[in-house]
Amino acid sequence: MKPAFPDLIGNDRLRARLAEDIRSDRFGHAYILEGADGSGKHSFALRIAAALACEHRTEDGFPLPCGNCPACRKILSGNSPDVITIGRGDKVTMGVDVIREMHADVFVAPNELSDKVYIIEDAQTMTVQAQNAFLLILEEPPAYVRFLLLCDGSAPLLETVRSRAQTLRTEPIPPALLADYLARTEPAANILRNGNPEEFAEWIAASEGSVGRAKMLLDPKKRRPITDARDAARTFAELAAAHRESTRVLAFLASFGQKRDEAIARLSVMLVCIRDLILLKQTEDAPLCFFYNREEACALAYRFTAPDLLRYASGISDAMEALRRNANLRLTLMHFAMQTGLLS
Ligand SMILES: [Zn+2]
Repeated sequence: MKPAFPDLIGNDRLRARLAEDIRSDRFGHAYILEGADGSGKHSFALRIAAALACEHRTEDGFPLPCGNCPACRKILSGNSPDVITIGRGDKVTMGVDVIREMHADVFVAPNELSDKVYIIEDAQTMTVQAQNAFLLILEEPPAYVRFLLLCDGSAPLLETVRSRAQTLRTEPIPPALLADYLARTEPAANILRNGNPEEFAEWIAASEGSVGRAKMLLDPKKRRPITDARDAARTFAELAAAHRESTRVLAFLASFGQKRDEAIARLSVMLVCIRDLILLKQTEDAPLCFFYNREEACALAYRFTAPDLLRYASGISDAMEALRRNANLRLTLMHFAMQTGLLS
């Protein structure tokens, strides 16, 4: 049998498991699909909806979804009235009004298909009130309804919501697979790979295992802030390994600029960098997310003790948390540097 979801790459086990649930009619009413922003959760969700409706769903020899039957085509082009995407619009959170509107629609039978699929984007932003309203539907949904809750992490969801859904996690696509896929499908990627292998490797690493992010970063203007953040993370790791060169540390802190969101984004790249080094302390074969040159990463990891790296990781997490709670940017960075021993 052909692999399920043939136009996606990576996440082989997850794809096989979902296909099995669908083919054997064991697909549940609600799934939480966790994965980083831009990791293709929406594409995945659309393909799940198509697989549920595909006219060749139970036939051998067809990939799931086939992509060619009328049901598949309508769903994959975003034109099925029975596959409904719900989001928070331009608001920070998803309020109870959004869920109430959905509630009214849920009890209207599907137009054309046997299932009605609701794709809920950024489900982690539902307010508690919204989640409680959602629970009322989730407790006794009509037999034809399926919910796909997409989120970057399910922790903000109430336990009562999580316990009524199956949680699945999409994993980042391994760099080599992502590189081959992009070189095959994006002419610009192939040119970059042949013309400037170093920049190609940097771009693949900055994509963090996401096809969507990689495509966005094909534009050098969009890639620039990300590569700047990666350079900053490397500078940080060097400074931390070199033990307290206060002039350089202060210059590094000043390079953060004034914008809170950008500072949080930089810190999160630093965290990915430090996590790689922590993993390398366990085993030199560890899967890496930040570094693409394993030798360089191993040499850097060698210069740290494991407790040092853990202290930096927790310091970065604390700083990100403080900034999200609106703490003063300069003071937070200074506190971070003192607390971790970067400055003494
Ligand atoms: Zn089909």
